[in-house]
Amino acid sequence: MPKSLNYKDIAELRGKIDLIDNQIVELMISRHEVSEKIISLKKSAEYDVFDKSREKEIIRELTSKYGNKLSVDEIKAMFNVILKYSKLRHNSLNEIAEASSVRDVLCYKPFIIAGPCTVESDEQMEKTVSGLAELGIRLLRGGTFKPRTSPDTFQGLGAEGVKILRKYAEKYNMFTVTEVLDEKQLLEHYDDIDVIQIGSRNMTNFSFLNQVGKITTRDKKPVILKRGYGSTLNEFVEAGRYITQFGNENVILCLRGIRTFEQIDSNMRNTPDLGAISELKDKSDLNIIFDPSHATGVSKYVVDISKAAVTLGADGLLIEAHHNPAEALIDGKQTITPSDLVDLITFIKHWF
Ligand code: PEP
Ligand code: MN
Repeated sequence: MPKSLNYKDIAELRGKIDLIDNQIVELMISRHEVSEKIISLKKSAEYDVFDKSREKEIIRELTSKYGNKLSVDEIKAMFNVILKYSKLRHNSLNEIAEASSVRDVLCYKPFIIAGPCTVESDEQMEKTVSGLAELGIRLLRGGTFKPRTSPDTFQGLGAEGVKILRKYAEKYNMFTVTEVLDEKQLLEHYDDIDVIQIGSRNMTNFSFLNQVGKITTRDKKPVILKRGYGSTLNEFVEAGRYITQFGNENVILCLRGIRTFEQIDSNMRNTPDLGAISELKDKSDLNIIFDPSHATGVSKYVVDISKAAVTLGADGLLIEAHHNPAEALIDGKQTITPSDLVDLITFIKHWF
């Protein structure tokens, strides 16, 4: 015989739960209001809005205070809910559409940087960039100086490519991301590039990294440093420090796949180094992004690998997109269309 329920006691306890829930909601709202005040102070001083070392410090403090009642995982789970709510409120689409500086746009995480492997023509850029802008993407990538394996292949449009990239970024209210290969290119095109990209093949070019660090310290321009495809994680973190050592902390570490024995018979161009996201978060306070296009080399894997990367905590994605990948002059095999991004954007909006 099942025992009968004591409805009176349950109703009383439920009353207590309701009260606590109300208090939690009120506290979450107040916490968010205070954090908005901090954000606006940081914005007016042109500082990066989110501070990862502060998040780690909060978890450390809570663990030392409540460690006898809660496990670290439980504390992290609670803190993640608080952060997720705060970011959700902060992430309204209108705000990202209105963000007026590239540093502000990079605060809406996880962010998507998309665009063709290489800038080819006005027609290509018009068709591709209009499609990306329609999705609310504000960060436009486009290779202009292309570091190709063979000197006989198309090397990008160079200086003309930077101008075309800038033209379409301005037309569609976006910011430019492109790779430069040396100090001369960096200085010549500095004002047209909003986020400087340093490629995988240059990760160990320490004198160049030093120059990038010195030059970008003036205005703290964001720099994406891509992982060398044969480099260890520690080497990657140290390479980032070559740039940050002069005071520009806006360096973004980009994982882009590494070369392993898998390439002997895998269809993938590289081995996606997804696990490195977890470890890099421990090793560095810099933002970490993932490039699923070069990591896989296969367009049909790009969206799934992107979802995995943001689930593991990547702060952003760098994705190759073209209005017609079959026509792309470089890397068409790993390129997706703007409309292929819809599914990924819906996923991000739902979960982050
Ligand atoms: C790129 O992103 O355009 C590129 C050349 O990538 P990587 O340096 O990672 O090969
Ligand atoms: Mn490419």
